[in-house]
Amino acid sequence: MGWGRRVRFAIVGAAPGTGRHLPPSAGHGVRVGALAALRICNLGSGSSGNATFVATDEARVLFDAGFSCRQIQLRLAAIGVDYKRLDAVVISHEHSDHVQGLETLTRKTGVKVFVSQPTSEKLTWKKSAPELTTFEAGRGFEIGDLAIETFTVSHDAVDPVGFCIGHGGHKLSIATDLGYMSDSVRYHLLGSDLVVLESNHDLEMLKSGPYPWDLKQRVMSRAGHLSNAAVAEFLSQHWDRRARTVVLAHLSTNNNHPTIAEMDACSAISSVRADHTRVVVASQGSPTPVFEL
Ligand SMILES: [Zn+2]
Ligand SMILES: [Zn+2]
Repeated sequence: MGWGRRVRFAIVGAAPGTGRHLPPSAGHGVRVGALAALRICNLGSGSSGNATFVATDEARVLFDAGFSCRQIQLRLAAIGVDYKRLDAVVISHEHSDHVQGLETLTRKTGVKVFVSQPTSEKLTWKKSAPELTTFEAGRGFEIGDLAIETFTVSHDAVDPVGFCIGHGGHKLSIATDLGYMSDSVRYHLLGSDLVVLESNHDLEMLKSGPYPWDLKQRVMSRAGHLSNAAVAEFLSQHWDRRARTVVLAHLSTNNNHPTIAEMDACSAISSVRADHTRVVVASQGSPTPVFEL
């Protein structure tokens, strides 16, 4: 059991009769557009940990392993997924809120790890390093029937990347931990049916908040984190309005509030009359619903 029980949480995408209720075996060997479901669940997001689960009937992939292995196990179990059945973990960058569970997860499950070569050199291992599969930022690769594209983001890590994930004519994108929306990032988000996008801080809250000034500057810098205002600018001026779901992620506990982030994004979306798009705010403590495309 697992996905079969969980598709009732499916919120987006599939029109009636497009296969959402097919038994798992029915999709095998079928490569017809919407029949091949792509599912995504953000297991939690913020400065204490990040991980996003993406799956088809044939591939189960975790993007970042920023919670303890135990938390990853529990959060996957909460959506009906056995963590030992992961096919791969793909790492965006070396910060601990993206990799802290990686070593134990690989030791317990033997899951394959995909990471860029420069990032791999920054990872530290208490015991021996597992075998790593390296990719080049800006290049794509496949895991099972998932086509994964990577793109460089601006952040204070050695080689940080965002991801576009394609399957069965659908596309979803993940872009967190970026100081600003470069033309390249905007380009890569085009055509996405679902976007997981960082909405880290409210500028006024950050400026008047408790952080020391040098940390405030780091967060606000072009190698820091994306503000609610930057998200609103993107959604109102550069977005193609295709996505049915925008998941706001990596919210700061001190310098943001879910309601403010949501309001800013929603008013940007309504300013371009994208009434079909919903905004979901990811939280640190619990997974989002499972979205199915
Ligand atoms: Zn982070
Ligand atoms: Zn980071």
